[in-house]
Amino acid sequence: MKIKMWRRNFFLGLCALAFLFLAQTSAHAQAGNDLALLDVMVTQAVNDEPLILNKQTVVRVVAQATAATDARVTVEFDGRTFTQTKRVETTPTNADVFVGAPQSFQMQTVRVQLDATDEQPDADVSNNTRTLTLPMVKPNEKIVAYFLPVDWTEEQRARYNFTENFPRFVRENATYLQAAYPVSDDQIAVDWTNVPHMLAANEKSLSNNQGDFDAISSHLLYASISLAARRLKPEATLVVGVFPPGWFAAHGNKSALGLALADVKGTVTAQYVLTDATTSAHELAHLYWMYEDYDYSIKPSRPYTWLDRSGYFVQKQVPQDISNNQKIPTFLSAYSPERPSWVDTRAYEYLMAKFTIESGGQVTEPMILAATMSRQVEPDGKNFPSDYSAGYQRFEPKQTVYVAVAAAGMRGGENLEARWFQRDSQVFKENKTLTAGNAWYAFAVRNRNGMPQDMYRVEIYLDGKLVKTSTFEVKSSQ
Ligand SMILES: [Zn+2]
Repeated sequence: MKIKMWRRNFFLGLCALAFLFLAQTSAHAQAGNDLALLDVMVTQAVNDEPLILNKQTVVRVVAQATAATDARVTVEFDGRTFTQTKRVETTPTNADVFVGAPQSFQMQTVRVQLDATDEQPDADVSNNTRTLTLPMVKPNEKIVAYFLPVDWTEEQRARYNFTENFPRFVRENATYLQAAYPVSDDQIAVDWTNVPHMLAANEKSLSNNQGDFDAISSHLLYASISLAARRLKPEATLVVGVFPPGWFAAHGNKSALGLALADVKGTVTAQYVLTDATTSAHELAHLYWMYEDYDYSIKPSRPYTWLDRSGYFVQKQVPQDISNNQKIPTFLSAYSPERPSWVDTRAYEYLMAKFTIESGGQVTEPMILAATMSRQVEPDGKNFPSDYSAGYQRFEPKQTVYVAVAAAGMRGGENLEARWFQRDSQVFKENKTLTAGNAWYAFAVRNRNGMPQDMYRVEIYLDGKLVKTSTFEVKSSQ
């Protein structure tokens, strides 16, 4: 009985489909082909972020046609016009237009137009243009990275074809840094030497004979690398010491690929993996107090944090599109050669704020640049995440949870509000009045008896308008 009913409905369904199909085709024949502009996204690393002055940019134009057709895509950006021809399909089709780096510091108006190029006229041209207006940020941080090979023997240099591969490794790291960090092309300078710095015996041990972390030896190691590099490059703000493969394992640290000592500012180490261009981006983020995006203190452990928003590796022309079945780890996650990483909103916004608020950067309009979760904030009214604690995602129940909010270019007198939620119920709210200019503001929640283990979020409002949402989890590692 049931089967019979189903068959009946099935055939009725088929008839209805056939009818729809006929109806649609005849409608097209009457109206002609319609080319339509569905969406425009202007991206430098992460979608929907303010534009950084002088940073490489891509404009993604999403188009669709009722019958596949060639279209001319015209993009006006920063006073220049870019044109390319693209085959537009009957499904949403991306045309990625690389528009260089914006040079004028102003509200950017981006105009996009789509024109049919073949004989077939466009039935409806009212859906062919779009104009966006985007604010800009001018960070004021200057990063001079110096790559120093450390402890490479003749034999290792020969085995890994060092003379050819090391400069390539440095170049790939530099490109990744320039692409993934919210800075202009001229804010990151990279230099290197191919003469290895050899360590003394007492500088080589990362753990003592009990297997514990050896602080004295590690500091000697960092001091030695730091001095050697700064002798060669005095203006270096970042020294990346690059060890030969296997060095960490041979000297007491089985799992590390890189290491940053919080109290030796400006020097990081990385183990050479030719295919890993992300090491310096990861280690440098630690120097700006960003925490790891892996968590091995809970069960099951979490090696990755996934991107929360799509983005673009513009310099390599590689989209970083995420979906339910395509996940991309952040560069602060554990390294895996099979999973190329990228930057998420959390890290990008925090670094943009870090490079703007404290360094005298500028914005084209008042903006909240970031709302960064952290376990500590700098005292004396400075309020930025401190001591290796920016970007925390999981808090112990009795820890104080901070959110550091970066307000740039304020006029003064604005109202900033933080609303804290445990799932859908608001648990706390707090207000602050802003002063003119750039500053960090910190809000905190804490429960003496322990916050319930759950998912939380904090919403940040500027004069009543929701401008940022940050999420975190309270979960005990006990
Ligand atoms: Zn790390």
